[in-house]
Amino acid sequence: MSSRTLTSIVAGQSVGSGADRPDVNPSDLGDVVVVSSVADAEVASAAVAAAAEAFPGWSRTTPWQRAEVLDRAGSEVLARADELGDLLAREEGKTLPEARGEVVRAGQILKYFAGVALQPHGQALDSVRPGIEVTVTREPVGVVSIITPWNFPIAIPAWKIAPALAFGNTVVFKPADLVPGSAWELVDILNRAGLPVGALNIVLGKGSQVGPVLTGDPAISAITFTGSVETGQGILQAAAATRKKVQLELGGKNPLIVCDDADLGVAVEVAIQGSFGSTGQRCTASSVLVVTDGIHDALIEAIRARMSGWTVGDARQAGIDMGPVVDASQLEQDLRYLEIARAEGGAVIGGEVVERGTPGHYLTPALVLGTSPEHTINREEVFGPVLSVVRVADYEQALAVANASTMNLSAGICTTSLAKASHFRRASKAGMVMVNLPTAGVDFHVPFGGRGDSSYGPREQGTAAEEFFTTSKTAYVLPGTP
Ligand code: NAD
Repeated sequence: MSSRTLTSIVAGQSVGSGADRPDVNPSDLGDVVVVSSVADAEVASAAVAAAAEAFPGWSRTTPWQRAEVLDRAGSEVLARADELGDLLAREEGKTLPEARGEVVRAGQILKYFAGVALQPHGQALDSVRPGIEVTVTREPVGVVSIITPWNFPIAIPAWKIAPALAFGNTVVFKPADLVPGSAWELVDILNRAGLPVGALNIVLGKGSQVGPVLTGDPAISAITFTGSVETGQGILQAAAATRKKVQLELGGKNPLIVCDDADLGVAVEVAIQGSFGSTGQRCTASSVLVVTDGIHDALIEAIRARMSGWTVGDARQAGIDMGPVVDASQLEQDLRYLEIARAEGGAVIGGEVVERGTPGHYLTPALVLGTSPEHTINREEVFGPVLSVVRVADYEQALAVANASTMNLSAGICTTSLAKASHFRRASKAGMVMVNLPTAGVDFHVPFGGRGDSSYGPREQGTAAEEFFTTSKTAYVLPGTP
């Protein structure tokens, strides 16, 4: 298959460089999906300057103008869902239905924020002093630096870029260098939908090279980052030097409790989809199954039976359940964690490297039995199709194990008891709670985000987006002042 070269887009211009990086299909290592021309710090600085120059114009556009651009772009993304879904599956390794679903979600996010641009923001109220009027208005922050991971290559960029633009900010965007194809298409669509030159710039580069500019340039007012805890920590430190506003969405270690009273069929599907969906490469993946004694054996038997019919293959092949691991280093990380789990006393079922028709990073899903909360596999994020099991006596013990995580992004429970479900919803330390549902952050009209080491700053999406992408101004007016 052909591969084309993508470049950074700065002030509407294509900016290449001497160095190329291939975007390799994890289902077929001989297939180079696209080649990206790797930007250096100079290109990143030019992108920041372009966004700064575009800011006065874009921030003064009317809500209707901003809404129209986002709505038009959303329509194109939705109309091209099959083609973009195919590209996403090819470069990242999600199955076609998962990849198409992600593209549709990106289109819906653009349309949602087109509506948000038109909604009233701010307040007008009376002062506590007689005769004085007070207004609290929301104004754009300025130039926003957007840095995204490889595992949701179009949805995460959409849920950061759309609110940034809707509220009148301009953007410098760096997608993950591993999978830049669908992110680049999103930027191209938005630019063609009518953005002024420089309002949205994309920098295709390595974090180590362009990162210092994207986190340190004084012209940047805010940074929104999704990625690993380690990288996020470094970004926060870099941003502090120039006191930028920072939003971080980081890793997760997400428990799923299954109680004795759970519906077994529901619990099996929730566990399987939550752990192995998207090859387990989700920040919200439920990677620790905390099971009470009375249902443990039946649940494990049912999960093993379901896993035996779970097909792993080329992401774009019809009928498969799970695509490959994204690249060699992630595969190596998955296998290393399985080795550690074995060494610490866990019994690993599955987790085998397998061959398919084309060379790829194929791994079968893994279940790790007999683990305890102290085991490494239950404390660190694996980011692969690996589900470890902790057996507990009762709900109280399960809650204690679930709340022992420090990366509190998402937590789930399977139970038919309203009392337990309600108690868990209140007592969980996680930012998102799922009851009898697989873990995910699908709804774009409600806040998304974690707690503890998993998150920093305001939530993303829905009504929460306004907090990060605007800054408030309070004005006191004495009407009739000459
Ligand atoms: P990563 O931290 O390695 O990279 C994320 C992005 O940061 C990439 O674009 C990378 O190029 C860039 N980067 C790296 N070094 C940088 C630097 N010094 N300065 C600026 N940018 C830099 O993460 P990843 O491997 O791409 O993604 C996987 C991680 O993302 C997992 O930990 C996962 O849990 C997390 N994640 C979290 C959420 C969430 O919403 N909480 C969602 C998806 C993924």
